[in-house]
Amino acid sequence: MDKIYDLAIIGAGPAGMTAGIYAKRAGLETIMFENSAPGGKLVKTFEIDNWPGESRVSGVDLALKMYEHTTSLEIETEFVGIKKINNDIIKTLETEDGRTFKAKAVILATGTIENKMEIPNEDRLTGHGVSFCAVCDGAFYKKKEVVVIGGGNSALEEAVYLTQFATKVTIVIRRDVFRADKVAQEHALDHPKISVIRHTVPIAVVGEDHVTAIRLKDLITNEEYDYPTDGIFPYIGATASTTSVAHLNVLDPLGYMIVNEKMASKVPGLYGAGDVCVKPLRQIVTAVSDGAVAAQMAFLYIQSIK
Ligand code: NDP
Repeated sequence: MDKIYDLAIIGAGPAGMTAGIYAKRAGLETIMFENSAPGGKLVKTFEIDNWPGESRVSGVDLALKMYEHTTSLEIETEFVGIKKINNDIIKTLETEDGRTFKAKAVILATGTIENKMEIPNEDRLTGHGVSFCAVCDGAFYKKKEVVVIGGGNSALEEAVYLTQFATKVTIVIRRDVFRADKVAQEHALDHPKISVIRHTVPIAVVGEDHVTAIRLKDLITNEEYDYPTDGIFPYIGATASTTSVAHLNVLDPLGYMIVNEKMASKVPGLYGAGDVCVKPLRQIVTAVSDGAVAAQMAFLYIQSIK
């Protein structure tokens, strides 16, 4: 018979890893699943300046510290994605490689995945000039020119990061104003290597084997033109990774998981934590808070069904 864990945590980002730490402290037999590198969005973030206690820390370093914390507690971890969570008193988790795991409670902490621009040649030239991770690929653009699409915190922070390598960084936004907070705007807009093209959207990636330009459309004049560039970094928001629970009727219309103040979904024993949830502020500090609450509430739930 399959082993039954107390708690399965899906996703080893800040929310999932914190849940793991709290679950271990509560004595729960816990298994964590991760389909990529531990750290979630942290490993794609150059620098963090709003993590209390560290005025500046690299995302990769913080991810590593959190992961070392979980490994020091010997939290069992499987590096595989979860395809589907079947709801029952004992939940069954189907992995992407065809295995099943059972647990009394589940915390979904799968975060979000970057939105694509959905324009011609984007897929074909991803990895050949189109990149969704400045931290991973920025160094390939030494002495080159790059374009960042989007005006949120991610776009502006990564644009500043790219100035270490690129000679010129152009940010393209579709409105006149940025969505990013004031500090991020100041850092980016004061930078001598950064310029901004406003009320403009990307309509095609241009290039044969590698990106040579991005085709842009000015939304005021309707003019379309090719803007030469060596690299394109889209940072246009993200979509919740919730396909494993899509059949459970626990999502809002945008696909984020609906949870209450105890991080509980309406399915008993199924919790959410971090960016995957409907919430007003997606930050590392709020993700770790969610993880702690979810683990503690899962602990109480497991006690109640014994
Ligand atoms: P956001 O949703 O905040 O911003 C997305 C940006 O992309 C917006 O400027 C949006 O334009 C633009 N956009 C969306 N779709 C398109 C499109 N099809 N074509 C062109 N532009 C488009 O996403 P982020 O990833 O930046 O941030 C996600 C969350 O994470 C936010 O809550 C953010 O605050 C948080 N975050 C916080 C950080 C920090 O505090 N250090 C760092 C990074 C992220 P428009 O504004 O016109 O809709």
